[in-house]
Amino acid sequence: MFSLPNLAYAYDALEPTMSAKTLHFHHDKHHAAYVKALNDLLGVAPKHITSLEDVIRQSALGGADAAKLFNNAAQVWNHAFFWQSMTPVAADPGPELQTAIQSSFGDLAQMREAFIKEGVNHFGSGWVWLVASGGRLSVVSTHDAHDIITERALSPLIACDLWEHAYYLDYQNDRKAYLGAWFDTLLNWAFASSQLAAASGNGVAWRFDTPTESAKAA
Ligand code: MN
Repeated sequence: MFSLPNLAYAYDALEPTMSAKTLHFHHDKHHAAYVKALNDLLGVAPKHITSLEDVIRQSALGGADAAKLFNNAAQVWNHAFFWQSMTPVAADPGPELQTAIQSSFGDLAQMREAFIKEGVNHFGSGWVWLVASGGRLSVVSTHDAHDIITERALSPLIACDLWEHAYYLDYQNDRKAYLGAWFDTLLNWAFASSQLAAASGNGVAWRFDTPTESAKAA
Protein backbone atom coordinates (compact mmCIF):
# COMPACT_ATOMS: atom_id res chain seq x y z
CA MET A 1 0.00 0.00 0.00
CA PHE A 2 1.00 3.57 -0.51
CA SER A 3 1.36 5.87 2.48
CA LEU A 4 0.38 9.47 3.00
CA PRO A 5 3.73 11.28 3.18
CA ASN A 6 4.40 13.45 6.20
CA LEU A 7 5.03 17.12 5.64
CA ALA A 8 8.63 18.23 6.05
CA TYR A 9 7.47 21.28 8.03
CA ALA A 10 4.96 22.19 10.70
CA TYR A 11 1.39 22.96 9.68
CA ASP A 12 1.84 26.60 10.66
CA ALA A 13 5.29 26.94 9.09
CA LEU A 14 3.96 28.33 5.80
CA GLU A 15 1.88 31.08 7.39
CA PRO A 16 0.79 33.67 6.55
CA THR A 17 0.95 32.65 2.88
CA MET A 18 -0.69 29.31 3.55
CA SER A 19 -2.59 28.89 6.79
CA ALA A 20 -2.35 25.90 9.09
CA LYS A 21 -6.08 25.44 8.53
CA THR A 22 -5.60 25.16 4.77
CA LEU A 23 -2.68 22.78 5.18
CA HIS A 24 -4.58 20.58 7.63
CA PHE A 25 -7.54 20.26 5.27
CA HIS A 26 -5.36 19.90 2.21
CA HIS A 27 -2.96 17.28 3.58
CA ASP A 28 -5.06 15.49 6.21
CA LYS A 29 -8.33 15.40 4.25
CA HIS A 30 -7.77 15.88 0.51
CA HIS A 31 -4.41 14.16 0.08
CA ALA A 32 -5.32 11.44 2.59
CA ALA A 33 -8.54 10.74 0.68
CA TYR A 34 -6.61 10.26 -2.56
CA VAL A 35 -4.22 7.86 -0.84
CA LYS A 36 -7.08 5.86 0.65
CA ALA A 37 -8.94 5.71 -2.67
CA LEU A 38 -5.75 4.62 -4.44
CA ASN A 39 -5.10 1.82 -1.96
CA ASP A 40 -8.74 0.73 -2.10
CA LEU A 41 -8.58 0.55 -5.90
CA LEU A 42 -5.34 -1.39 -5.86
CA GLY A 43 -6.48 -3.86 -3.21
CA VAL A 44 -4.56 -5.41 -0.34
CA ALA A 45 -0.80 -5.80 -0.69
CA PRO A 46 -0.47 -5.91 -4.47
CA LYS A 47 3.00 -7.43 -4.74
CA HIS A 48 3.38 -6.68 -8.44
CA ILE A 49 3.27 -2.94 -7.85
CA THR A 50 6.70 -1.48 -7.37
CA SER A 51 6.16 2.26 -7.67
CA LEU A 52 3.50 4.91 -7.86
CA GLU A 53 5.08 6.16 -11.06
CA ASP A 54 4.37 2.78 -12.70
CA VAL A 55 0.75 2.85 -11.52
CA ILE A 56 0.33 6.29 -13.03
CA ARG A 57 1.95 5.42 -16.35
CA GLN A 58 0.01 2.19 -16.75
CA SER A 59 -3.36 3.63 -15.77
CA ALA A 60 -2.77 6.58 -18.10
CA LEU A 61 -2.85 4.13 -21.01
CA GLY A 62 -6.59 3.84 -20.57
CA GLY A 63 -9.16 1.13 -20.16
CA ALA A 64 -12.56 0.94 -18.56
CA ASP A 65 -11.41 1.20 -14.95
CA ALA A 66 -8.24 3.12 -15.56
CA ALA A 67 -9.50 6.69 -15.26
CA LYS A 68 -10.40 6.47 -11.58
CA LEU A 69 -7.12 4.76 -10.76
CA PHE A 70 -5.14 7.30 -12.76
CA ASN A 71 -6.90 10.25 -11.14
CA ASN A 72 -6.24 9.05 -7.61
CA ALA A 73 -2.70 7.82 -8.27
CA ALA A 74 -1.70 11.02 -10.03
CA GLN A 75 -3.26 13.18 -7.33
CA VAL A 76 -1.34 11.24 -4.67
CA TRP A 77 1.87 11.93 -6.59
CA ASN A 78 1.07 15.54 -7.46
CA HIS A 79 0.30 16.48 -3.87
CA ALA A 80 3.44 14.84 -2.52
CA PHE A 81 5.40 16.76 -5.15
CA PHE A 82 3.56 19.95 -4.21
CA TRP A 83 4.58 19.56 -0.52
CA GLN A 84 8.17 19.25 -1.72
CA SER A 85 7.76 22.36 -3.87
CA MET A 86 7.22 24.49 -0.78
CA THR A 87 9.47 25.38 2.12
CA PRO A 88 9.52 27.89 4.98
CA VAL A 89 13.30 28.17 4.49
CA ALA A 90 14.18 30.98 2.10
CA ALA A 91 16.84 30.24 -0.52
CA ASP A 92 17.85 31.43 -3.95
CA PRO A 93 17.90 29.33 -7.12
CA GLY A 94 21.21 27.52 -7.49
CA PRO A 95 23.70 28.63 -10.17
CA GLU A 96 22.57 26.09 -12.77
CA LEU A 97 18.93 27.03 -12.23
CA GLN A 98 19.73 30.75 -12.38
CA THR A 99 21.46 30.26 -15.71
CA ALA A 100 18.53 28.25 -17.04
CA ILE A 101 16.04 30.88 -15.86
CA GLN A 102 17.99 33.61 -17.62
CA SER A 103 18.34 31.72 -20.90
CA SER A 104 14.71 30.56 -20.89
CA PHE A 105 12.81 33.56 -19.52
CA GLY A 106 15.26 36.47 -19.53
CA ASP A 107 15.26 36.85 -15.76
CA LEU A 108 13.54 35.68 -12.60
CA ALA A 109 10.91 38.44 -12.75
CA GLN A 110 9.82 37.28 -16.20
CA MET A 111 9.69 33.68 -15.05
CA ARG A 112 7.54 34.77 -12.11
CA GLU A 113 5.22 36.64 -14.46
CA ALA A 114 4.92 33.62 -16.78
CA PHE A 115 4.23 31.26 -13.86
CA ILE A 116 1.52 33.46 -12.37
CA LYS A 117 -0.04 34.18 -15.76
CA GLU A 118 -0.21 30.48 -16.61
CA GLY A 119 -1.82 29.72 -13.26
CA VAL A 120 -4.32 32.57 -13.42
CA ASN A 121 -5.36 31.77 -16.99
CA HIS A 122 -5.73 28.04 -16.33
CA PHE A 123 -9.45 27.29 -16.51
CA GLY A 124 -10.74 25.28 -13.58
CA SER A 125 -8.80 22.83 -11.42
CA GLY A 126 -5.30 21.66 -12.11
CA TRP A 127 -1.64 22.37 -11.58
CA VAL A 128 0.95 24.85 -12.78
CA TRP A 129 4.47 23.52 -13.23
CA LEU A 130 7.97 24.75 -13.87
CA VAL A 131 9.51 22.10 -16.08
CA ALA A 132 12.81 21.40 -17.78
CA SER A 133 13.56 19.82 -21.12
CA GLY A 134 17.14 19.59 -22.25
CA GLY A 135 18.21 22.44 -19.98
CA ARG A 136 15.41 24.66 -21.27
CA LEU A 137 12.76 25.71 -18.77
CA SER A 138 9.11 26.40 -19.39
CA VAL A 139 5.88 26.89 -17.51
CA VAL A 140 2.94 24.62 -18.25
CA SER A 141 -0.36 23.77 -16.63
CA THR A 142 -2.29 20.52 -16.50
CA HIS A 143 -5.96 19.86 -15.86
CA ASP A 144 -7.43 18.10 -12.84
CA ALA A 145 -5.16 15.19 -11.88
CA HIS A 146 -3.01 15.30 -14.98
CA ASP A 147 0.68 15.37 -14.37
CA ILE A 148 3.97 15.79 -16.15
CA ILE A 149 5.51 12.36 -15.92
CA THR A 150 3.05 10.71 -18.29
CA GLU A 151 2.09 13.45 -20.69
CA ARG A 152 5.28 14.97 -21.91
CA ALA A 153 9.01 14.39 -22.12
CA LEU A 154 9.53 17.01 -19.45
CA SER A 155 11.09 16.97 -16.00
CA PRO A 156 9.04 18.70 -13.30
CA LEU A 157 10.96 21.12 -11.08
CA ILE A 158 8.11 22.47 -8.98
CA ALA A 159 4.31 22.38 -8.97
CA CYS A 160 1.66 24.63 -7.50
CA ASP A 161 -1.86 23.40 -6.82
CA LEU A 162 -4.56 25.39 -8.66
CA TRP A 163 -7.54 23.56 -7.18
CA GLU A 164 -9.68 25.92 -5.13
CA HIS A 165 -9.14 23.84 -1.99
CA ALA A 166 -5.49 24.94 -2.14
CA TYR A 167 -6.28 28.62 -1.63
CA TYR A 168 -9.94 29.34 -1.04
CA LEU A 169 -9.76 29.48 2.77
CA ASP A 170 -6.92 32.00 2.61
CA TYR A 171 -7.56 33.94 -0.62
CA GLN A 172 -11.17 33.11 -1.58
CA ASN A 173 -11.41 33.65 -5.34
CA ASP A 174 -8.14 35.58 -5.68
CA ARG A 175 -5.97 32.96 -7.36
CA LYS A 176 -3.56 35.63 -8.57
CA ALA A 177 -2.81 36.81 -5.02
CA TYR A 178 -2.29 33.20 -3.94
CA LEU A 179 0.11 32.49 -6.79
CA GLY A 180 2.08 35.68 -6.23
CA ALA A 181 2.49 35.09 -2.50
CA TRP A 182 3.25 31.43 -3.10
CA PHE A 183 5.97 32.23 -5.62
CA ASP A 184 7.51 34.95 -3.46
CA THR A 185 7.52 33.22 -0.08
CA LEU A 186 7.10 29.44 -0.36
CA LEU A 187 8.77 28.26 -3.55
CA ASN A 188 11.41 25.67 -2.67
CA TRP A 189 14.35 26.76 -4.82
CA ALA A 190 16.64 24.15 -3.32
CA PHE A 191 14.25 21.43 -4.45
CA ALA A 192 13.84 22.97 -7.90
CA SER A 193 17.62 23.18 -8.23
CA SER A 194 18.11 19.53 -7.28
CA GLN A 195 15.36 18.49 -9.70
CA LEU A 196 17.06 20.40 -12.50
CA ALA A 197 20.40 18.80 -11.65
CA ALA A 198 18.77 15.37 -11.76
CA ALA A 199 17.22 16.19 -15.13
CA SER A 200 20.76 16.94 -16.34
CA GLY A 201 22.03 13.62 -15.05
CA ASN A 202 23.43 14.81 -11.73
CA GLY A 203 21.64 13.07 -8.91
CA VAL A 204 18.25 11.44 -8.76
CA ALA A 205 14.90 13.09 -9.39
CA TRP A 206 12.33 13.01 -6.61
CA ARG A 207 10.15 9.92 -6.55
CA PHE A 208 7.20 8.91 -4.43
CA ASP A 209 8.02 6.47 -1.65
CA THR A 210 7.78 2.86 -2.74
CA PRO A 211 4.73 0.94 -1.49
CA THR A 212 4.87 -1.39 1.44
CA GLU A 213 3.57 -4.94 1.26
CA SER A 214 1.82 -4.78 4.60
CA ALA A 215 -1.91 -5.33 4.74
CA LYS A 216 -4.06 -2.26 4.69
CA ALA A 217 -4.12 -0.29 7.88
CA ALA A 218 -7.40 -0.11 9.70
MN1 MN B 1 -4.89 19.81 -3.80
